[in-house]
Amino acid sequence: MLTVEEALEKILGEVDTLEAESVPILDTLGQVLAEDIRSKINVPPLDNSAMDGYAVRSEDTRNAGEKTPKYLKVIDTVMAGSISKKEVAPGTAIRIMTGAPIPAGANGVVQFEHTDEAKNKDNTRVGVLEEIRPGQNMRKAGEDIKTGATILRKGTVIRPAEIGLIASLGYNKARVIRRPVVAVLSTGNELVELGNPLPEGKIYDSNLYSIAALVKKYGCVPKILGITHDHEAETADKIKQAQDADMLLTTGGVSMGDYDIVKDILARDHKMIFWQVKVKPGKPLAFGKIKGRDKNGGERGIPHLGLPGNPVSCMVGFELFVRPALLKMMGKKNYDKPIVTAIMEETIKNDSGRRLYDRAVVEKREGHYYAQLTGPQGSGVLSSMSLANGLVLIPEEKTIKKGENVQALMLDWNEEVNL
Ligand code: AMP
Ligand code: MG
Repeated sequence: MLTVEEALEKILGEVDTLEAESVPILDTLGQVLAEDIRSKINVPPLDNSAMDGYAVRSEDTRNAGEKTPKYLKVIDTVMAGSISKKEVAPGTAIRIMTGAPIPAGANGVVQFEHTDEAKNKDNTRVGVLEEIRPGQNMRKAGEDIKTGATILRKGTVIRPAEIGLIASLGYNKARVIRRPVVAVLSTGNELVELGNPLPEGKIYDSNLYSIAALVKKYGCVPKILGITHDHEAETADKIKQAQDADMLLTTGGVSMGDYDIVKDILARDHKMIFWQVKVKPGKPLAFGKIKGRDKNGGERGIPHLGLPGNPVSCMVGFELFVRPALLKMMGKKNYDKPIVTAIMEETIKNDSGRRLYDRAVVEKREGHYYAQLTGPQGSGVLSSMSLANGLVLIPEEKTIKKGENVQALMLDWNEEVNL
């Protein structure tokens, strides 16, 4: 049976980064830039005022002070977005608002607070109460971005600041690695679609929703295939509906039971790469490639992860094996969830022969992380997954005693966190 690391290596070896596409910038949040972005303009485009005040010639303010005002003639007012047609000649000033281009002749700005503006009723003249250095209270053209400069490099993960930066250059689209489309299919005779009454012996299909939500959380696009019964022809047919997707995720049907047919269909009609991993929860994970189509109608292998049916097992399996594969497809370089060392607050015995990933609440107190289990660890107890913010890793055949250190994988922290 493969270890977690071996299984992940096999999966990553079978998935490739997807192609790039050009999309409106607001849609690129969280995606990876597929091109360098260069600026065709200066930002800001012109020297402009950093303050509300008066544009002046610095030499006209020499020796100005609270008790020795220098009086200048006010010849115009200019606001952001407009350009004054006047020139600041010796002995004159132009009233200027933040962001407005510096008028010709001026080389500095005195802010209102350092003039007699508040007391002065005569708006044809202003008293300057401080010396202004050349360039003072001005933003220089190209101070943020210079024409021709490379502003963002290919491979950058786009955050709101990058979207703003791209917008400031005037581009409304950017080339990014496209989002994988992930088909999601639940298998099981016991499953009932939401919105219907629950007959005796049945359960609602929650996996479809938790797994599709994880797909969305990591920036991919779920394609909902719904529920299939534990019936060979029906399931084989549903699997075929994933032929245009970039990945297929099924839940259930990969254990040892009589009706666990997903792995059999994968092995018979497609290609099974491995089945079972030394992990708890989630041992019966199946991985392979189903026959799919590319854009030109040619053949293409589509990665299929057959996740176990238990609601916790499939979510943990997703975090450990699906998430890194999707991040690779999206062109990301960091697949690792942040791991912190925490002090375990109760004893955990692992005699399963598999690596244990137990649900835990990890908290920082007085400079140390502490981990506490969220309650019963049965792989059907989804409420304890909801309470958790991390998974504590218990190595094979090891007991972690209360007070000992444990490694905790932080589910709620993103991959970009640099510890
Ligand atoms: P299986 O791996 O198919 O044997 O499923 C194991 C158990 O997981 C089933 O007995 C159900 O209790 C549960 N289960 C399977 N599929 C789902 C689902 N889509 N939603 C909620 N629970 C499920
Ligand atoms: Mg089943």
